[in-house]
Amino acid sequence: MSRMRAVQIPHPEGPFELVEREIPEPGAGSVRIRVEACGICHSDSFAKEGLWPGIQYPRVPGHEVAGIIDALGPGVVGWKTGQRVGVGWHGGHCGYCDSCRRGDFVTCQIAPQIPGFTYDGGYADYMVAPAGALALIPEELSAVEAGPLMCAGITTYNALRNSGARPGDVVAVLGVGGLGHLGVQFAAKMGFKTVAIARGQDKEPLARQLGAWHYLDSQAQDAAAELTTLGGARVILATVTSGISGRRSIVGWPSGTSIDSQDTLSFSALTGVRSMNEIFPLERVTEAYERMMSGKARFRAVLTTGQPAA
Ligand SMILES: [Zn+2]
Ligand SMILES: [Zn+2]
Repeated sequence: MSRMRAVQIPHPEGPFELVEREIPEPGAGSVRIRVEACGICHSDSFAKEGLWPGIQYPRVPGHEVAGIIDALGPGVVGWKTGQRVGVGWHGGHCGYCDSCRRGDFVTCQIAPQIPGFTYDGGYADYMVAPAGALALIPEELSAVEAGPLMCAGITTYNALRNSGARPGDVVAVLGVGGLGHLGVQFAAKMGFKTVAIARGQDKEPLARQLGAWHYLDSQAQDAAAELTTLGGARVILATVTSGISGRRSIVGWPSGTSIDSQDTLSFSALTGVRSMNEIFPLERVTEAYERMMSGKARFRAVLTTGQPAA
């Protein structure tokens, strides 16, 4: 009963190892989550390939976590066992540095925490996370649906809602992949005239189905010129590493906090925004990761533990 499965990276550039570990006990201010699903994010490659400074190995990756609170550590208030929760990129903060004191937890200078980087993440049956990193999952969303929204979802949702664009404005989404297919949905549901831009014609039907008002094939058309004829884009959400000429300013948006994640989940439940996922059991992590890294996954890869809900 006290053992669990976890997928660990033994050392930088090492293979995924499925190991048995003790089920962790939550410390003060933290909760234990019985993981149901965890999305595989491209950023997990930073831990896998040793590209993130300061990671201690072995490390269990995973920051698109969805599960159920299974135990409370000392001093946790506002949460109870049995609640369905998610954990994303923002996995905790110090609470006393200048950034935190200004309420800007994402840029915490002292102890920014990221699941799968600074502590073990969701590629496991159980994980422990600070209570401040939890987002409540609405009942309309399954764990598999909630997982990818905890990173890919919040990143695009929060960028769009903080972009300054207003309903009716033209908003371009560059790329219709793991992030972009969510970006197009969020932009359309927020009431923007959403222009999806991707290479080739084959993604147009999907982009339209996701709510795009217009589609531009960047191989066949000059996307910047076409946007100008559409009246110019108020915002261009770049979800791929590519350039569009004529852009006047670039604003980066670093995911968001746990309440931003919760807003993302609520908005998705309300409006029907869903990630399109390929689902793999925990044991097939290597295959799932390689599919994601090769760009073949349509569109997010999600690991499931097979643990029954609540
Ligand atoms: Zn991520
Ligand atoms: Zn701080």
